Amino acid sequence: NQKQRTQVVIIGAGPSGSVAAALLHQQHIDVIVLEKSTFPRFSIGESLLPACMEVIEQAKMLDAVTAAGFQFKDGAAFRYRDRYTAFDFSDKFTPGAGTTYQVQRGHFDKVLADEAQAQGVEIRYEHTVEAIECLDGKSVLTITDAQQQQYALEADFVLDASGFGRVLPRLLGLEKPSHLPPRQAIFCHVTDHIDVNRCEVEYDRNKILISVHPQSADVWYWLIPFSNGTCSLGVVAPPQWLAKYGDDSISILKQLVIEESGLAAVLAAAEYPSTAATIEGYSANVTQLATSNYALLGNAGEFLDPVFSSGVTIAMKSAQLAAGVLTRSFAGDNIDWQRDYAEPLMLGVDTFRTYVEGWYSGELQTVIFHPNPDPKIKQMICAILAGYAWDINNPFVAQSQRRLAVVAALCAD
Ligand code: FAD
Repeated sequence: NQKQRTQVVIIGAGPSGSVAAALLHQQHIDVIVLEKSTFPRFSIGESLLPACMEVIEQAKMLDAVTAAGFQFKDGAAFRYRDRYTAFDFSDKFTPGAGTTYQVQRGHFDKVLADEAQAQGVEIRYEHTVEAIECLDGKSVLTITDAQQQQYALEADFVLDASGFGRVLPRLLGLEKPSHLPPRQAIFCHVTDHIDVNRCEVEYDRNKILISVHPQSADVWYWLIPFSNGTCSLGVVAPPQWLAKYGDDSISILKQLVIEESGLAAVLAAAEYPSTAATIEGYSANVTQLATSNYALLGNAGEFLDPVFSSGVTIAMKSAQLAAGVLTRSFAGDNIDWQRDYAEPLMLGVDTFRTYVEGWYSGELQTVIFHPNPDPKIKQMICAILAGYAWDINNPFVAQSQRRLAVVAALCAD
């Protein structure tokens, strides 16, 4: 005797799904979340940005996240050959939170989903969305439940928060190739045994460390420390570049750490697992982000690149925006989903796009590794690295391409 109709169906209970569900429920909108897994489940995307803390707070989940004991994060550090530079997120142009956490996503996503449930949201675990029919003013979803039984659920509106599952882009033929070239990531969790007092190079556990391969500047590593003595370690490179290292992923990862002597010094005593995971071709785009029947949240829409840890922040911003627009819609406002949702969301996504493209073209690396940065410009770039990519008062948001090009040219002189 499950309900067969609701106002809003949300596909996926990751960060975007749980946050959207809580925000809608707080506005007395009837919502059901369908999640194909049981929680906790692994997910990649472990370094948060301060800008997402405001959304977590609005969803009334901040106390639970703070109490969970995740690794404190106050900035981002970058290393290229003998150059090391750090951004302190409290010293930034845009007002707002300057600290956040680095999280094991299995635990983090469960904290958010449990909070949504505790607020009264219905989450149906092990319910997989298989098909959708969009009709005039409503949609009908076909779902397989944990007992492998199929049923139909009718909703006024569908939010696709299925992440890399990309449920609606697949079912509705919305997939569009990304302009970014395909890249591959190899990653694992190591027991790090980092002792900052004995480390031969500068290291700060409160920051994500992004290291650049000394010979190939488009190849980079992440080191994301957790609060339990482990780190997430990953490398991102073009697949054809990695092919020459063979096909044993953990051996490739270890070899590439040896090649970056700064990272090798930080991880000198690390214990590695026997295998590493890989993910390839994750950049993706869509032809349409929203209509009067559905909206795509987070990764179910466009995914750029992991280099600035922007994925969860974009996912949560999209949830916040969509929940606000839906609340107005159910209150009787006339909504244009392109104008009211897609365009405001893309402002921040396009800002990140400028910096992702600038990272790989080398322009942004020239700016980041410049030995004498202008403090005001550093604060503006720092705000974007902290996730404040929607702040049009920041000239590096409003005119991101032009500003970055000008500063990169000055730094190159
Ligand atoms: P997800 O967290 O992926 O949740 C989607 C949920 O939908 C899942 O639980 C899934 O089980 C469920 N689902 C899927 N299909 C169905 C279905 N048919 N029916 C029902 N449920 C379904 N982001 C960061 O912020 N920081 C980082 O450091 C970072 N590093 C990254 C590194 C790499 C290599 C990559 C590829 C990405 C990284 N990201 C990072 C991005 C991050 O992984 C995503 O942006 C983020 O997880 C998106 O959250 P979401 O809520 O949209 O979806």
